Amino acid sequence: MKREKITAIVLAAGRGKRMNSKVQKQFLELGGKPVLYYSLNCFQQSPLVTDIILVTGAESVAFCKEEIVEKYGFTKVKKVIPGGKERYDSVYEGLLSCENSDFVLIHDGARPFITQEILERGMTGVRETGACVIGMPSKDTVKVSDENGFVQETPERNLVWSVQTPQIFEYSLIRNAHEKIRCENMTGITDDAMVVERASGTKIRLVEGSYKNLKITTPEDLDIAEIFLKNI
Ligand code: C5P
Repeated sequence: MKREKITAIVLAAGRGKRMNSKVQKQFLELGGKPVLYYSLNCFQQSPLVTDIILVTGAESVAFCKEEIVEKYGFTKVKKVIPGGKERYDSVYEGLLSCENSDFVLIHDGARPFITQEILERGMTGVRETGACVIGMPSKDTVKVSDENGFVQETPERNLVWSVQTPQIFEYSLIRNAHEKIRCENMTGITDDAMVVERASGTKIRLVEGSYKNLKITTPEDLDIAEIFLKNI
């Protein structure tokens, strides 16, 4: 029987304006290694993942190949490609690069703390409907505001999740969803599941990630990440 092709698309093409640093957040040092190293290492070690596409800024392709992929021996990285203006443009470039995949795991390179257990739960989840999002139930009560900053509604807390990555899809489902939405309107798309939500009625399974699976966005996230790393 032909082995399934399961591709991780790792996104590292963001500018990271909120980090206030010259170095993009995915390349900042965490425990002596670039932030991006940790998620690539998890995918490299995973028996589920067959290959990896790394998406980065056009100016960082050579750096990623030499200083990350070759240096740390990430043999599953088959391509390092330039991304696009918005996150969903970078995802689309990644999707074009893995045409014969059965499943894709789309992951923020700025989230170093994914684990083998998260990947296993995610792959189990995606087999239900073809779409699965990693996340965690919200610890905080969430308010939806109107345009003027007044509370509009309060969703029931036990139904609210904060979503993370990886977000995992059957390849044809997410590729077709992107093709459909690209012709319409991509405004306000902030994660991959939204593309599927807009394009089709496919049910999307929510699966528990971890409260440690943070995205390095602002300087204090890096301090927290250093503490997490010490306790692994
Ligand atoms: O900007 P944000 O924190 O949402 O970025 C999430 C991930 O998407 C990061 O790993 C970032 O490098 C990536 N990204 C990308 N291409 C963009 C914007 C963000 O690959 N144009």
